[in-house]
Amino acid sequence: MTQFKALLVSENEGAFSAQVTERDTADLPVGDVLIRVQYSSLNYKDALSASGNRGVTRSYPHTPGIDAAGVVAESRVPEFAVGDEVIVTGYDLGMNTAGGFGQYIRVPAAWVIKRPAGLSLREAMLLGTAGLTAALCVDKLEQAGLTPEAGPVLVTGATGGVGSVAVALLARLGYSVAAATGKVEQGEFLRQLGAQQIVPRSELQEGIDKPMLKERWAGAVDTVGGDILFNVVKSLRYGASVACCGLTAGVGFKANVMPFILRGANLLGVDSVELPLVVKASMWDKLSVQWKLGNLEALAREVGLQALPQEIEQILAGKQVGRVLVNLG
Ligand code: NDP
Repeated sequence: MTQFKALLVSENEGAFSAQVTERDTADLPVGDVLIRVQYSSLNYKDALSASGNRGVTRSYPHTPGIDAAGVVAESRVPEFAVGDEVIVTGYDLGMNTAGGFGQYIRVPAAWVIKRPAGLSLREAMLLGTAGLTAALCVDKLEQAGLTPEAGPVLVTGATGGVGSVAVALLARLGYSVAAATGKVEQGEFLRQLGAQQIVPRSELQEGIDKPMLKERWAGAVDTVGGDILFNVVKSLRYGASVACCGLTAGVGFKANVMPFILRGANLLGVDSVELPLVVKASMWDKLSVQWKLGNLEALAREVGLQALPQEIEQILAGKQVGRVLVNLG
């Protein structure tokens, strides 16, 4: 049994609050691999968990954190040995299993990936689930035929975690990136990541009642959902695709069939959570070599556990810029 620090979210008469608390590895669930977490990162879903969203976390007290990178401290399986550097993202981590906002996690071996040689643990968590999701979106678009020559690619929610990695990754791969944001004052940040065009969010909120809009985008990564997503579908060029992964603008949208039957538009769903481990591992390999980003530190700020409650409020309010790396010390 080892004592460690974790952010613990508690419920008191329907109100949720988070404190850094001393825990014991005996409090962790049974599992194959005990991991000393060195880095985690903040994702929107962690903020939903920390604020009592029952779709994410059913019971409290609970430690969120859907991402973790660290060193194996105990293993019951031959695939992992003490000292191995590993990454865990998604599945049930941080949802109903104590997550990466604690210095230790214990998880099934089927959730664990060995750190690829080309990425440090820190780099892996600078990317985190946001980076994995951005990569999955770009991969789906390319599988659907997108190439840099096709024209401009739109990223919505561009200053957010998934959005900022998507901008950087698409730019790194030679695409002309249009970054749509509600924070036009962050234009310089987006340009430094490689965006060539800044699109004010308000522009994507016009024409919701129209069945189609002018053809603009050769492809798109949508991290916000809601009516903005369908406006993006309506402004795809002939045969183009949008990868849909997020819901910060809403879960529903007003839709019609015209963009699909007149322009052959494609709406591609992206999930980074329940994806088979081999697919996750292949995407991490890609992010560590061919798709490795040179400007990873520029994407993120580093915080400790104590600062997380205020960072969680910021992400819930849509005010985060880039990624938040969590150093577990
Ligand atoms: P962030 O909060 O970091 O980014 C979301 C961005 O969305 C904000 O920064 C903001 O960007 C924009 N935004 C916020 N509120 C609104 C609004 N009301 N209307 C329109 N745009 C808004 O979150 P993440 O990057 O961590 O996650 C983004 C989304 O992707 C979330 O919904 C998350 O749940 C989802 N997600 C899904 C995954 C999957 O597997 N499918 C995995 C990871 C994330 P700006 O100000 O630049 O417009």
